[in-house]
Amino acid sequence: MSTLYKSVFVLLVMCGSIIASEQIDTLRDMYRDEGLKVPDRNHFTNGYSSKYFSSWEIGNRDNTDFTWYLANGAFWWSMDNIREAVGGQIVLNSTYRNPFHNNDEGGEDDSLHQYGNAADARKFNGVKWSEMNDAQKQKIRDHIQEAEITLKAEYGDAYFLDIDESDSRYLHIELMNYCDYPDNYS
Ligand SMILES: [Zn+2]
Repeated sequence: MSTLYKSVFVLLVMCGSIIASEQIDTLRDMYRDEGLKVPDRNHFTNGYSSKYFSSWEIGNRDNTDFTWYLANGAFWWSMDNIREAVGGQIVLNSTYRNPFHNNDEGGEDDSLHQYGNAADARKFNGVKWSEMNDAQKQKIRDHIQEAEITLKAEYGDAYFLDIDESDSRYLHIELMNYCDYPDNYS
């Protein structure tokens, strides 16, 4: 490599890390501004993907101005287990939201979407949640319960998957008690 190329390469790497640190600072300021527990710098990731869900689905689909986001591995491991039980693609509506975006979306102030610990699922194996009959919905709930049994076996009894069906367009799934975010979350 010529000296010129080497210098350009070093410069690019330096710029990359400056941008990363600015992004993480900006994101952390949002938590501070909203009175939420501020995640540690090293909790942010820019490339986490799970077996079935891409880093874009997990971290960037709702967080388009940033490459950095939070992703709780235990939650996404559970989502992979649900995906396997369902036997087909799960289409997600919403995943990680930074606190400002969460406000814009009208999310709960302490929403676990802000901590990489929740997802809204719109479609399971080709069928929309909003168009499922009771039996189909019950099957999905059963799959989530199976995944929860696996989760508890792996991570302990305190951790469980919670679902919220209040919006008929999608099923909100979150992992309770695994992470300590936000502080007052019980
Ligand atoms: Zn949600």
